[in-house]
Amino acid sequence: MPILFRSTNGQSPTVNLREALLAGLAPDRGLYLPESFPELTFEEIAAFAKLPYHEIAFRVLSKFTEGIIPDAELAVMCRSAYNFPVPLEIVNVRVFLMRLDQGPTASFKDFAAQMMARMFGRFLQEDGWQVTILTATSGDTGSAVAHAFHKVPGVRVIVLFPEAEISESQRKLMTTLQDNVRTVAVDGKFDDCQAMVKQAFADPDLAHISLSSANSINIGRLLPQSVYYFYAASRVAQAGEPVVFSIPSGNFGDMMGAVVAREMGLPIRKIIAAVNDNDAFPKFLASGHYEKIVPSRNSLSNAMNVGHPSNLARLVAIYGGQMDETGKLVKLPYLPALRRDVFSTSISDERTVAGIRDFWNQFQLLLEPHGSVAWQGFQEWNAVEPLGNTPAVIVETANPAKFPVEVEKVVGWEPDVPNNMQASLRMPEDFDLMDADYAKFKSYLLARH
Ligand SMILES: *Cc1c(COP(=O)(O)O)cnc(C)c1O
Repeated sequence: MPILFRSTNGQSPTVNLREALLAGLAPDRGLYLPESFPELTFEEIAAFAKLPYHEIAFRVLSKFTEGIIPDAELAVMCRSAYNFPVPLEIVNVRVFLMRLDQGPTASFKDFAAQMMARMFGRFLQEDGWQVTILTATSGDTGSAVAHAFHKVPGVRVIVLFPEAEISESQRKLMTTLQDNVRTVAVDGKFDDCQAMVKQAFADPDLAHISLSSANSINIGRLLPQSVYYFYAASRVAQAGEPVVFSIPSGNFGDMMGAVVAREMGLPIRKIIAAVNDNDAFPKFLASGHYEKIVPSRNSLSNAMNVGHPSNLARLVAIYGGQMDETGKLVKLPYLPALRRDVFSTSISDERTVAGIRDFWNQFQLLLEPHGSVAWQGFQEWNAVEPLGNTPAVIVETANPAKFPVEVEKVVGWEPDVPNNMQASLRMPEDFDLMDADYAKFKSYLLARH
């Protein structure tokens, strides 16, 4: 029996992986979650210690694709998607830095986008369908999605990004692709881009266009993001030994990957969700009162400038509550359990900069702003609840070369640009400009279909 997925709003029928993936958002505007999580046994997890990344990916993801994608095909997809290293650098004794920045666009978003594009391509080929993937990006999603779906038959990609909020290299990694990829610079904030995308999905006048989403609301983004937690634990911990993960968080898709891994049986002592000035979640965790931040606040870690993390609806659902798509808490989750499992804190830009400097001075390892938020969040947790002998993994989500200005200001030199990024940075850019105005966006979409 294939795993079924339910909506966090509870008003849509359950669907299988293929339907959940192609739809993105459930018809009741909730987010899809497995009805129940498949579990891995102690022995299955212990066996990961000797397996390469793509094989761990296969063993984790096959629990969700059973009856949907034949194992032999999934194995091929995992091998081709995960053909780059996942370094775990020693910080000190039992603290490690996991660099998720070796994929084609040098951020962790490649892990999900690469697998999702392969799944989409396969499902569309079966059906002979055409879809348009609409994505709002705060920087890294757009490039990861554009690269992953570039030239995938049956797919057209439209990426909206806030013109003034992303770095030059983030922009070039998506605007230099052409063919089936179109990028739009919006004169507004990430939240405006996301609102325009959401409105397009709900617009009956666009119903004839098969729209789909590759944002972290898509379950196809979430599942592959559980794999690197299994991988890290298999490399830094003994079988059965719990691990602490510190994760720089914006839309909370990455940290939800750790929650999924835990639900599937990975022993995790604490998940640290470190945020920038957009502190709605740590405030909620402390008070039980949720207030989204409108407009979102600009911070150095720009991929996390998210005033209302959409994946919170999933986190709340897993802990027995319900949050609708506007951020309204219909039912409070069970807070004691959430607080036992998850720690969250807000790191200012000043401390983000200090984190890059201190980490370099102490360990001669280079962080960029997002990884620095995770490092500072870890230290803050460690001051409250000492790590002791537990292994800890700090998640670095982007390559420092994506933030050359910020990094140079702190350490005095510009980080080397990895080979995979250099080609994109040299190619000519081409993108459209638009006001943060839904009516304009709608005519743009209609004119292109
Ligand atoms: C997207 C992104 C994040 C935030 O991840 P979420 O899943 O949205 O919480 C952190 N760091 C980088 C570099 C990113 O691109």
